Amino acid sequence: MNKLIVGNLKMNILSQTERERYLNSLQKELVGKKINNCEIILCPPFVHLEGFRKAKIKKIILGAQNMFWETKGSFTGEVSPTMLKDFGCEYVILGHSERRRYFCERDEEINLKIISALKNNLKPILCVGESKQEKEDNQTLSVISQQVKSALEKVSRTKAENLVIAYEPIWSVGTDEVPKENEIMEARVLIFKILIGLFGVKYAEKVKIIYGGSVSAFTVKQVCLDLGMDGVLVGRESLTPYEFIKIIKIISEK
Ligand code: PEP
Repeated sequence: MNKLIVGNLKMNILSQTERERYLNSLQKELVGKKINNCEIILCPPFVHLEGFRKAKIKKIILGAQNMFWETKGSFTGEVSPTMLKDFGCEYVILGHSERRRYFCERDEEINLKIISALKNNLKPILCVGESKQEKEDNQTLSVISQQVKSALEKVSRTKAENLVIAYEPIWSVGTDEVPKENEIMEARVLIFKILIGLFGVKYAEKVKIIYGGSVSAFTVKQVCLDLGMDGVLVGRESLTPYEFIKIIKIISEK
């Protein structure tokens, strides 16, 4: 199975000039690099999707950072799955902790988005994970369980191969703190068990389970490769093409 490397550029790259600089630098970093067994997905802000698509950078697949569940209509400020498809997206991040926190996204809404993404042939990258407080209260596994089960309600097992689940502990996002190997492993095993319950083993095995939170060239071995995770979700380090490609090379050369 190819490993997934997802770059979440968040609300960065503030101008078209900055975008061109970023894309040029990415292209330069990729020159002469053999990248095997990886799918590289970059998720820029909506306004840059067209610019990223036009750049046609080899090996780069496009993703979005969010979407609405309806396909069209009077939903001011929202972006539809149909639009994302038309702008060249293959993936969409859903349920990121920043959306849950700042935009009060609830599990039921994330579930509607997952169903809609799959129906519209987008591959959802569902983010789940506990806060610092929940971790201290020994709630990690129950939080993950609740988030995964709610998000996947009424999702057909025939769609499993298009699903990605990112275990992203909130306390690790942007902090340079990463979980211990056994903590990631426990989360992975739990998610897999839930998937077996929902879809059966054959289909559960098709879902990719990746890790996100302070992934860098220094941590990628510990949080992904040593544990046999299916890939990584990268925030800050994806903003610097040099660092992002370093992570990709480490995974690709494994
Ligand atoms: C993220 O927010 O999705 C993320 C993984 O961020 P960082 O890599 O900066 O911790």
